[in-house]
Amino acid sequence: MDAYKIGDYEKFDRLKTRKIQENLIDWYKKNHRKLPWRETKNPYYIWISEVMLQQTRVDTVIPYFLRFIDKFSNIESLSNADEEVVLKMWEGLGYYSRARNLHRGAKVIIKEYDGKMPDTLKEIKKIPGIGPYTAGAILSIAYNEAVPAVDGNVMRVFSRLFYIKEDIGENNTKKEMEKIGQMVVSKENPSFFNQGLMELGALICTPTSPKCVACPLFMECTGRKLMIQETLPIKKKKIKVKLVEMELAVVYKDEKILIMKRPTEGLLANLWALPSIEREKNMEEGESIRLELEENYGMTIKNKKYLFEKQHIFTHRKWKMKVYSFELIRDEKIDYPEIQWISLQEIKKYAFPTAFMKVLKNVKKQEK
Ligand code: SF4
Repeated sequence: MDAYKIGDYEKFDRLKTRKIQENLIDWYKKNHRKLPWRETKNPYYIWISEVMLQQTRVDTVIPYFLRFIDKFSNIESLSNADEEVVLKMWEGLGYYSRARNLHRGAKVIIKEYDGKMPDTLKEIKKIPGIGPYTAGAILSIAYNEAVPAVDGNVMRVFSRLFYIKEDIGENNTKKEMEKIGQMVVSKENPSFFNQGLMELGALICTPTSPKCVACPLFMECTGRKLMIQETLPIKKKKIKVKLVEMELAVVYKDEKILIMKRPTEGLLANLWALPSIEREKNMEEGESIRLELEENYGMTIKNKKYLFEKQHIFTHRKWKMKVYSFELIRDEKIDYPEIQWISLQEIKKYAFPTAFMKVLKNVKKQEK
């Protein structure tokens, strides 16, 4: 049994493909988890759930999903909302560009598509943030269109099932997986087929220790027959995580602290935060943030005090955050586009990214 070679489409003979479809759909009907977005064919709900599920665990997503659709029950209400309110509903889920894209996407659907989610691949891919996977998920589940939905879980299943040795970190392999998905997706029931693959990847064909004896594709799986399933998929590239030393300031004025809104572009855009800056190398600890407050915010401050250190990992970087407190002497010159003085009880009202939330919770704890 040789490994699959790109373009070797004969490998997907009709008989084998049919067996895979039947077994998978049958298994899905009997075994799928009851999740709120599985009880509907509403394309808006499916869109929200699929976007939330990117990089995030199902258990975490459920309460966010329910709160989100309760607050924004349809595309129109999402499009009419302030971005800040949308970000607040997303607070803690991370990868905030997903929330911004959903918001932008809702506006595009209202403006260009009369408020109705497009039902063709060509049109749906024009919506901000909807890539091939999300498009496939929405079209197959909501509209029963035979379009594949191939994400990392599905690539893992395909790599094992068809013995594909190509590096799944490569764009070419991803495109090839899409073609394979197109070839094997059920025309009769693409919704259950795609959801079956997603569920199989989540519950049975897991990254480590796949539960092959419980797998509906046991007989068809080449990786399992060769007993190499755990060596697949191949992923050579590792994401390099850059360590960034940050300094953060908790500036007190009476009983309140200073927060600022981050710029409209870049990491954590438009979210509320504490004043922060990357530490200047060769500068004494705590001095980069002190100078930032004095020179760039135009503040007069005193009593610098080191509080604690926290870490936060983003996709490509890790922040090592050292937190300092200061007392404000004069603030009439604060030169920053959007700031607020708030009490620690008021932090719930603002959309803070997780990195800053961790710090604020600790400040609150220390104050008790
Ligand atoms: S038999 Fe095992 S390796 Fe193959 S698809 Fe099923 S769980 Fe994955």
